[in-house]
Amino acid sequence: MDFLPVFHNIKGRRCLVVGGGEVAHRKAAVLIDAGAKVRVVSPQLAESFSELEGIEHVAARFAPQHLEGATLVIAATDDPAVNRQVSELAQARNIPVNVVDAPELCSFIMPAILDRSPMMVAFSSGGASPVLTRMLRGKLETMIPQNYSRLAAFAERFREKVKTHVTNPAKRRIFWESVFDGVVAEKVLTGDELSAEKMLHQMLADEDNIQRGEVYLVGAGPGDPDLLTFRALRLMQKADVVVYDNLVARPIVEMTRRDAQRIYVGKKRADHTMAQEDINELLVRLAKEGKRVLRLKGGDPFIFGRGGEEIETLAAQGIPFQVVPGITAASGVASYAGIPLTHRDHAQACMFVTGHLKDGTMNLDWEQLARPRQTVVVYMGLHGLETLCSKLIEHGLPDTTPIAIVQQGTTRHQRVITGTLGTLPKNPQVSELHAPTLIIVGSVVTLRDKLSWFHPQ
Ligand code: SAH
Repeated sequence: MDFLPVFHNIKGRRCLVVGGGEVAHRKAAVLIDAGAKVRVVSPQLAESFSELEGIEHVAARFAPQHLEGATLVIAATDDPAVNRQVSELAQARNIPVNVVDAPELCSFIMPAILDRSPMMVAFSSGGASPVLTRMLRGKLETMIPQNYSRLAAFAERFREKVKTHVTNPAKRRIFWESVFDGVVAEKVLTGDELSAEKMLHQMLADEDNIQRGEVYLVGAGPGDPDLLTFRALRLMQKADVVVYDNLVARPIVEMTRRDAQRIYVGKKRADHTMAQEDINELLVRLAKEGKRVLRLKGGDPFIFGRGGEEIETLAAQGIPFQVVPGITAASGVASYAGIPLTHRDHAQACMFVTGHLKDGTMNLDWEQLARPRQTVVVYMGLHGLETLCSKLIEHGLPDTTPIAIVQQGTTRHQRVITGTLGTLPKNPQVSELHAPTLIIVGSVVTLRDKLSWFHPQ
């Protein structure tokens, strides 16, 4: 270990920044965040300093007396001789000093930080590679939810109470672990501290009977794993059981926790491996067994996903759950196909409808769908394509209205066929398409000629 990592309390202390450029500004800003009284010595200050409140500006070149009373010094001038002088004088006085980009002149290092105050993570490569350090920080940034701040503050708030209730230190550690690992923490992380508090009190009242089971209804997006949300990824790593269906891309299922139990519940068109009611019941049963259940859905769980029905059963049974939105097929597929769903010159509204055939017909409000200057996105519409096109024409859309059908959008199997309401149903290529497919109707489809960018091989 080349350096001792410490967290330095500089509240109300005088800190000196030598230099007035952008780098000096960034350092001064961090010091102010940590509550220091900051003195900046520099003949001039960069524009950005004006947004920093409460700095003392000494408009002069650096002189030894500026070190007077300083708890900590940072040199960030573009003159190596000045930086060296600051370093030598500070070290002679035992004042911790950092010189930007000159590790050999530093007595301390400014780490890259991940700030979830009061939680704080500091990173350093000991000056070896600041870029690598920042990349590592970036990785962790995606893994630690923003609301960790709230979680830490929440824990602090109940620290004493828990201490008096759970007197045995070993038991107390287990208690806190189950708080941070379970339902209470999830409630805090989603911003529902009221419920979290209630649950914590229940846990304190009945330590041996802690409810652990919960369900995460998570949108997995349209296919490309990079389109997952941070929260989806976190819960995928946390769940004990994964319940998924056909629409969830294989690589995404593979990203769930290695040792999690995986349950496939099917749902291809006309091949419902498990009836919806059975899925609803399955989620309840698993949660009641104390499992953390991840219900993974393609796209967004609340858009043609029957997510509402699944959590209705959970709500009725008092099982904690949360819903994580995902990128719905319409928005993912349209982006990857180069078709903006709205556009000032083409469409001021966009409608999502399901083309699922019930008794061989499509029950849609055709008058509304056939209005001009809007985009209509049809989910589950491939088998009703002919009906869709002829009904739209019948209700007033020109048969020259552009239409696109996109197979397995956002994945490497993406394929886009375009045409018009009059021509597309007759295009023989349509019969070669594989599910899932999405239909987009409207003049925005023509923009694809200019905006197409995703060309999977
Ligand atoms: N909840 C999902 C939709 C479920 S309905 C969502 O928000 O996206 C299933 C339909 O979604 C499919 O029949 C298809 O029309 C559409 N779909 C989902 N993923 C798709 C993809 N990658 N490419 C094309 N269509 C897709």
